[in-house]
Amino acid sequence: MRGAVMYAPGDVRVEERSDPRIVKPTDAIIRLSATCVCGSDLWPYRGVENLPWPAPMGHEYAGIVEEVGSEVTTIKPGQFVIGSFFASDNTCEICQAGYQSSCIHRHGVGQEGAQAERLRLPLADGTLVATPEVPADDLVPSLLAASDVLGTGWFGAVAAEVGPGKTVAVVGDGAVGLLAVLAAKQLGAERIIAMSRHEPRQQLAREYGATDIVEERGDDGVAKIKELTNGLGAHSVVEAVGTQESMMQAIRATRAGGHVGYVGVAHGVELPGEELFFSHVHLYGGPAPVRRFLPELIDLIWNRQIDPGKVFDLELPLEQAAAGYEAMDKRQAIKVLLRP
Ligand SMILES: [Zn+2]
Repeated sequence: MRGAVMYAPGDVRVEERSDPRIVKPTDAIIRLSATCVCGSDLWPYRGVENLPWPAPMGHEYAGIVEEVGSEVTTIKPGQFVIGSFFASDNTCEICQAGYQSSCIHRHGVGQEGAQAERLRLPLADGTLVATPEVPADDLVPSLLAASDVLGTGWFGAVAAEVGPGKTVAVVGDGAVGLLAVLAAKQLGAERIIAMSRHEPRQQLAREYGATDIVEERGDDGVAKIKELTNGLGAHSVVEAVGTQESMMQAIRATRAGGHVGYVGVAHGVELPGEELFFSHVHLYGGPAPVRRFLPELIDLIWNRQIDPGKVFDLELPLEQAAAGYEAMDKRQAIKVLLRP
């Protein structure tokens, strides 16, 4: 089969990879209807993070089940399924508490490489959620978004305790940040401030429910949020970048007693203890337990109540994955959908 492999920073190739096979009786094999490039794939692409090169790439997926192992009971060939970037049993104590991305048996789907024609999913019964029927084509991008960016943005909003009457600020205007805006709207936020300096992203943020846009970043961005909130800061801030600057921007834009939900994968972030101590800000985040939210999110998409697939503003054949990485790296595209 064809699949994307990263050989070194900036070097993505689509090449022949061996077809995935059932390895354990709890596995499933799916044929991907769509896959995509993640903002987090840009960390190794930019040389910020090392991978065991050459590395198969991709951890977001939606597609049709082709084959299941002998111990798989709920997932059946022919179903259209979505799952998270961590496979999980969904039965251990950690999963039952809603933290499937820390499952005691978790397995990173990225190791299997989802930017490909087919994919092996471990722990199929725990990991995969089937749609009621095979979806119409126009729903596929939104269902694919549920695999990571929607679930991650949603968790960011939940972690930041977004709710009715609250003012929410979102740091980061990538797909996760934009979908945190969508989540904040769905969860009843009164005011949603998107921090973005890119016009097309501002426009999508507004479509998703942003009431205000702040273009400034760093200390200036914090000052602007304070100005919009009677000097107090936002109740809830979603951090969807993962740098020192964005994390501090999120913490400082939050009012005393408020909550930061951080879902940007932290790279080199160090928190100042003394400032945190006196801030009275709640910090909570991590790799989103997307599996917890999947049934609810799939339902919202199926009933066309939300349209998270709009974050895909470039669609390419899988063969052109390298161009997809480049477009996201240069911020020419918010998120790139790949068709195997
Ligand atoms: Zn588990």
